[in-house]
Amino acid sequence: MQNTIPDFDVVIVGRGPVGATLANLLGLSGVRTLVLEREARAYHLPRAVHFDDECMRVFQTIGLADDILPHVILSPGMRFLNAEGRLILDWPRSQNLTPMGWHLSYRFHQPDLEDILINGLGRWPQVELRNRCDVFALDEGASGVRVRYEDLSTGQLAEVRAAYVVGCDGARSLVRRFIGSGMDDLGFHERWLVVDALLGRDRPDLGDYSIQHCDPRRPATYIRGTGNRRRWEITVHPDEDAQAFAQPAKVWELLSRWIAPNEAEIERAAVYTFHSAIAEQWRKGRLLLAGDSAHQTPPFLGQGMCAGIRDAANLAWKLRDILLGRTDASLLDTYQSERSPHVREFIELAIRLGGVINTKAIEAGLAAGEARSDAPVKLEVRKPLLGSGLAIGDHLLAGHLAPQLTLTNGRRSDDQTGYASVLLVEKAALSKSAHTALTRAGLALLTGDDAVDLPRWLDEHDIAAALVSPDRYIRGAVRNEAELDRLVAAACSCTNLI
Ligand SMILES: Cc1cc2nc3c(=O)[nH]c(=O)nc-3n(C[C@H](O)[C@H](O)[C@H](O)COP(=O)(O)OP(=O)(O)OC[C@H]3O[C@@H](n4cnc5c(N)ncnc54)[C@H](O)[C@@H]3O)c2cc1C
Repeated sequence: MQNTIPDFDVVIVGRGPVGATLANLLGLSGVRTLVLEREARAYHLPRAVHFDDECMRVFQTIGLADDILPHVILSPGMRFLNAEGRLILDWPRSQNLTPMGWHLSYRFHQPDLEDILINGLGRWPQVELRNRCDVFALDEGASGVRVRYEDLSTGQLAEVRAAYVVGCDGARSLVRRFIGSGMDDLGFHERWLVVDALLGRDRPDLGDYSIQHCDPRRPATYIRGTGNRRRWEITVHPDEDAQAFAQPAKVWELLSRWIAPNEAEIERAAVYTFHSAIAEQWRKGRLLLAGDSAHQTPPFLGQGMCAGIRDAANLAWKLRDILLGRTDASLLDTYQSERSPHVREFIELAIRLGGVINTKAIEAGLAAGEARSDAPVKLEVRKPLLGSGLAIGDHLLAGHLAPQLTLTNGRRSDDQTGYASVLLVEKAALSKSAHTALTRAGLALLTGDDAVDLPRWLDEHDIAAALVSPDRYIRGAVRNEAELDRLVAAACSCTNLI
C-alpha cells in the first residue's frame, strides 16, 4: 500500500454485538471508525441469552445501560438436576447489586441488544456503519491497511484505507485468516439442538431458574428468556442426523416433557456445534481480532459474547491512546496477553460445566468429594484475572476488577470518570506534585472526598491507592506513600504504559 493518509483510524469488520460495542467505545473516544457489515440488519434470532454485571458496566460506559435496562430481566441462577430430578448442584445469583454497580446475571433477547447498540452508533458523528458490505481482502502496508469489500447492494467493489482493522467477524473470521493465526483447540466439540419457543399461555411452573438436566440419556438445558421466550438446548448424539433432529415432529417429541404444541410456537430449532478454541495470534501488525473471531466457548456459562465485550473494552482505549500519539503501537501487545488467559479460564470452566451436564465428571469437574453426598453442591464462579501486560508492581489486586463507587454527589463513579484511567486514593496520601502530574497526564482521580465507600475499600485491602485502567481492571495497588509516588510516576510515563 502507498504511504497515504488513512480514510479511517479504525475499520471494524462485522457489526455483531462485539463490533457494535467496540464501535461505540471508539465513537466515545473520538476515533474515526468505519464498520463494514455483510448483512442488511442485525441477525433476527438470538444466540446469547445472558450477560453479566461487567458487560452492563461497559454498556454504562457507552451511555446505553438505561436503554438496555427495560429489555432485560434478572436471573435467579442455575440448578443442575440429575436424571431422577434431584438437585445436585446449585448456582444461585444474588439479586443484590455487585461491586460493579450492576446485577450479576441478566437475561436478554440478543436482537434487542444489538438494535440498541447499532442505534447508539448514530450518536457519534465520526462513526459510520455500512451494511451489506462484504470484506474480502486486507493488504497491510507501513502506514495502514487497504480494506477491499463488495457492496452487495450494488455489486460494486470498493476500498478504504485504515490505520487499524479489527476483525469482529465471528467464528469463521476472514481477518483471522489474514493474520494467519491457527486455533488452540481446547477439545470440546458437541452438537446441541437449540430451540427457542414463544409461550402462548403462562407456564409459571417452568420456573425462572435455568435448569441443567444432567441425564446421561439426553442432557438438556432449560432457560427462561425475557417475556414469553423460553429456550431449550438438547444434546444431539454422535450417531443422530442433525437435519432430522431439527424437524418439527422430532422437536415436539423432545420438548414433550416440558410443553405441548398447543402451548407454544417454535421460533427456531437449529443444531449448533459448540466449539472451544482460542486464536493463537490476536494481532499481526495493524490487524486485530475481537469476540468470536478470537475465541469460541460452549455456552454453558453464558460467557461467549461477554468475553467479546471485554475484548472491546480492553482494546478501544489502547487504540485511542496510540492514535492520539500518547503511546506507541507496542501497547497493543498487552491486548492478547491480558485478555487471552482471562477468556481461557472461562472456556475451561464452561467445558467442565458441560462435563457435569453430561454427568461425566461431577467430582473431577467441580467439587471433588462433596458431590458424592446427598446435599447439593453450591457453585460459585470467581471472575478470572486479567493476564499480565500492564500490571505495575506485585500487589495481588492487579488484574482484578475495581469496584464502581457511589459518589457523594449521588453519581456513579464510572459516569464521573468516563472511559479513562483512574487513581483511587485517599486525598491526604497524594503529594501536590503527584496530583499535578496525574492531572497533566489526563488521569482521573477519585478520593475519599468524592466517594464515601472508597476509604473503606482501601482499608479492606490494606492499600493506600490503586490504579485502574479504562476497562476497570486494576493495574497496580500500593501500600504506602513512597510506593504511591512510584505508581504515579509509572502511570504518568508513556514508556511505562508499554
Ligand atoms: C446457542 C448459543 C447460545 C449462546 N449463549 C450465550 C450467552 O448466553 N451469553 C453469551 O455471552 N454468549 C452466548 N453465546 C455466544 C454469543 O452468541 C457469541 O459469542 C456472540 O454472538 C459473538 O459476537 P461477535 O460480535 O463476536 O460475532 P457475531 O455475532 O458472529 O458477528 C459477526 C458479524 O460479522 C459479520 N461478518 C462476518 N464476516 C464478514 C465479512 N467478511 N465482511 C463483513 N461482515 C462480516 C457477520 O455478518 C456478523 O454480523 C451463545 C452462542 C450460541 C450459539
